Amino acid sequence: MPELPEVETIRRSLTPLLLGKRVEGLEVYNPGVLIEYSNVTVVTGIIFALRRRGKYLLIDLREGTSRPKHLSTIMVHFRMTGKLLYKDHFEDVAKHTHVRFYLSDTLGEMCYLDFNDVRRFGKVWLLPPGGESMDPGFAGLGPEPLSAEWTAADFLAQIKHHPRSTVKSLLLNQEVVAGIGNIYCDEALFRAGIHPARQNETLSEEEVLNLQQAVREVIAEGIGHRGTSFSDYVDGLGNRGNFQLELRVFQQEGKACSVCGTEIEKIRVSGRGTHFCPRCQPRLIDKERLAR
Ligand SMILES: [Zn+2]
Repeated sequence: MPELPEVETIRRSLTPLLLGKRVEGLEVYNPGVLIEYSNVTVVTGIIFALRRRGKYLLIDLREGTSRPKHLSTIMVHFRMTGKLLYKDHFEDVAKHTHVRFYLSDTLGEMCYLDFNDVRRFGKVWLLPPGGESMDPGFAGLGPEPLSAEWTAADFLAQIKHHPRSTVKSLLLNQEVVAGIGNIYCDEALFRAGIHPARQNETLSEEEVLNLQQAVREVIAEGIGHRGTSFSDYVDGLGNRGNFQLELRVFQQEGKACSVCGTEIEKIRVSGRGTHFCPRCQPRLIDKERLAR
C-alpha cells in the first residue's frame, strides 16, 4: 500500500509531466471508484499544481485565461494497489483501469493519465477548490511527519491522550501523524528499539522523542529511495522504488537482525502483521528489565 514516501514519489514523478497540460475530460469504466461532488460538473482545465497530504495526491486545475482561477481538484487515494499511470501516447485501456483522464499539451498532442487498481479499494474524487476538506479522512489528518508542525510537545500529548493503545496503532492513526502505514511504522519502531505492542503509557519521554526522530528518518529515507516496491507500487511512469532493499524488519521475518543477529519475528499487533527484533525491541519496559 502506498504510504507517504510512495505517494510523494508519485507526485514528484508526475509533476514535470503534468504541469501545464490541459485536462480535456475523463472516461469512467468503474463508477465505484469515483466520488463526485455535485457542484463539479466538468473536469477540464490546466494542471497548475500537484500536492500531497498524508497518503492523498491532489491535482489542481485552473482556467486557461490570463487571470487564472482555481477551478477544481482531482484527488486520489491509492489504498492497497492503486496506481496513477501517465502515457504520452495512446494505449488501449488496460485491465483494472477504472478512470482515464484525457490530457493535451500546448501543441494539442494527446496524452493520458490512467487510474488503475486491481483491488478496487482506491478512490478518485472530483472536487471544487478546497473541496478536499469535505472528505472526513482528509479533514482529520494530523501533521505531516517531516513538517515543523509535528512538534515533540504534540507527539507527547498524543501519547498521553492514548495511554492504553499500542504504540503501533498510534503511529498508524492518521489523525496523530499523517502518511504512515505498516512498512514505515515497523521500520521506525525497530530503529527506536521499541516493541510494537507496548502500550503508550509505558514509553518514557526519551523513547517517544527517539521514536519521533526514527519516524522522520525512515520517511525521509523512503522518499530518498523513491519508495518501497514489493509487488504493486510503481511511480507515475511505472518505475519501481528501492527502499525494500533497506528494510530491516518489514517482511524480513526469519532473517537475521542487521544489528544483533537474532531472528526477526512476525506477530499480529492491533490487527496488523507486525515485524520486529525480539532482542533489539524487548517487550518489557526498562523498569521490569532492570528488576530481572
Ligand atoms: Zn536485533
